[in-house]
Amino acid sequence: MPRGAELAGYQGQPGSFGARAAARWGKPVAFPTFERTLRALLAGEIACAVLPAVNRVDGPILESLDALARSLTELESAIAVEAEIEVPVRLVLAAPPGLALESVREIHSQAAALRQCRHLLARLDAIPIETHDTAYAAFRVKETGGPRAAVCSEEAALEAGLLILEEDVSDVRPNTTRFWRLARAGATADAVPGNDAAPDGPAPRAVFYAGVRASSALAEAGAELLSLPGTPGDPVRGFAVVPEKNVARAAAGTGRPAAGERVIWLGPAPEFVRPPRMRDIPKVTEVREPSVVAVGPFVVGGGRRAVIAGPCAVESPEQIARLARAVARAGATALRGGIFKPRTSPYSFQGHGLEALGWLKDAGDAAGLPIVTEVMAPAQVVPVAERADVLQIGARNCQNYDLLKEAGRSSRPVFLKRGFGTTVEEWLSSAEYLLDAGCKNVILCERGIRTFEKATRGTLDLGGLLVARSLTHLPLFADPSHAAGRRDLVPGLARAAWGAGVDGLMIEVHDAPESALSDGPQALLPEDLEELLDEFGILPGTSGSVERIRRAIDVVDGGIARLAAQRLELARRVGAIKKASGRPIRDEAREASVRARFAEVLGGDTPGATRLADTLIDLALEAEGGKEPAIPRGS
Ligand code: PEP
Ligand code: MN
Repeated sequence: MPRGAELAGYQGQPGSFGARAAARWGKPVAFPTFERTLRALLAGEIACAVLPAVNRVDGPILESLDALARSLTELESAIAVEAEIEVPVRLVLAAPPGLALESVREIHSQAAALRQCRHLLARLDAIPIETHDTAYAAFRVKETGGPRAAVCSEEAALEAGLLILEEDVSDVRPNTTRFWRLARAGATADAVPGNDAAPDGPAPRAVFYAGVRASSALAEAGAELLSLPGTPGDPVRGFAVVPEKNVARAAAGTGRPAAGERVIWLGPAPEFVRPPRMRDIPKVTEVREPSVVAVGPFVVGGGRRAVIAGPCAVESPEQIARLARAVARAGATALRGGIFKPRTSPYSFQGHGLEALGWLKDAGDAAGLPIVTEVMAPAQVVPVAERADVLQIGARNCQNYDLLKEAGRSSRPVFLKRGFGTTVEEWLSSAEYLLDAGCKNVILCERGIRTFEKATRGTLDLGGLLVARSLTHLPLFADPSHAAGRRDLVPGLARAAWGAGVDGLMIEVHDAPESALSDGPQALLPEDLEELLDEFGILPGTSGSVERIRRAIDVVDGGIARLAAQRLELARRVGAIKKASGRPIRDEAREASVRARFAEVLGGDTPGATRLADTLIDLALEAEGGKEPAIPRGS
């Protein structure tokens, strides 16, 4: 690997926004100026240079773009804009302890940062003093003392030992800066002086131009023109950032530029990089829309929720066929059952092995359910994947990396349980193995971790689940059965997880738990499962009975009645406040927006939905009014 392969150069100091941006792409290395950063890049001392290009408040960052422009023209350097990211810029005003806001006379910061908080400067009537970078400004005011404050990141202020006088002082909030990642372009960045034809290969997105104006092709292509102060001979210089979809159009145009124009390609189109939430777990923590895993009727993720149910172990063809029918009737859309059982004692039932896979598959087919079963060793993956719809990796094997790689290579979705001794981060790293091996469909499942508490089999870590939710796009399940270890606690934990927003539940079910070969004490009876799924509004498909659906309707009706009572009470309270303060009771605009919202939730703009919404609101208003017109209609 060449020297500096992982190093990302930036101008500034640790704690500056440049350092933050550089950290997304490598190990940040500080340089005092933009020029020095670019020189280090050209000398191969760093893999990339990270430069601020455009700020949301202030527009083009002249200082860094100018350094880049000079490098491109004077040094004829081949530099490519490889990628762009947007970094939140939360500027604070900070000063050494003891200095009050009214006493601030000088505000030190980088020129671009000072331009982003003109309102603050005007309000405090303070003199702006330019420094190299924001973090340096913080150190400087700490060192020199006096009536001086700095505009910098919160991090830099704390690092320098300053107190924050005012938070978030940018003129426009939220403030952001787009940073470019620049690399040596090698063969890809053709400088095209004299406006030669566009280079072959992928089209560029950013071009540098110098001359009287940018080519009209750029303007037509919707380019964002980042202008720099020019010279009398060359009044306009700048960069054009062309939207990805119009690159071909812009490229066609730059072959025939306007007189006096000079176009330099800045390399192939940069991909717009949204950094993952965790650097070392890029695929699992990629910032993207929720992943949906779908296997026949079983669909989870992105708002779709489902339940996997079945016995701990497949015990016999009859047992699994019976339970498959029972869980399908209850509303589960996938059937579980272990054929290889990881048991603490080698003398306990170990599972019926591959023979039981056939029983499980037949039972699933007959009930119309895909099957989920555990693999414990790499050698089991291929034979099990032949017939199982989803491969489960159990808690004990969460960090069995050979197994993860092998399971990830199979074409089946993988259901990965969290190990009882793994952190959320380790669990996500295990999922990264699966995605990295090519697995497209991964589901994560929290099943209770080991804590000092012995009253339950595990401790269902809902906090960890929520942390995982904030980090990954993958569907997240909870398994209340293994967490509880006791039947009576399973519904409560299931409700808690459901309330926390899991995409699904895995629940163990048995119709003769006292004689189950494993985990009998934690198995729900089929009728318990049915009752629980009623609560969640999960109903079986066409096989459901009228009685069952009526029970579900009763649950919904109960909810509607409770909500209606709650609404009535709230509307009365609003009315009482309005009356006391002399505000008119009727608010037509508010009423119209309430009607519109109802109609939207009820199914959009159809006449039916609008009528139902109107009727409901009319009834609500009438109920609020009651018999006594004085009771306010203040919804
Ligand atoms: C199981 O699902 O049957 C199982 C063994 O679970 P865990 O790996 O979570 O203990
Ligand atoms: Mn079990």
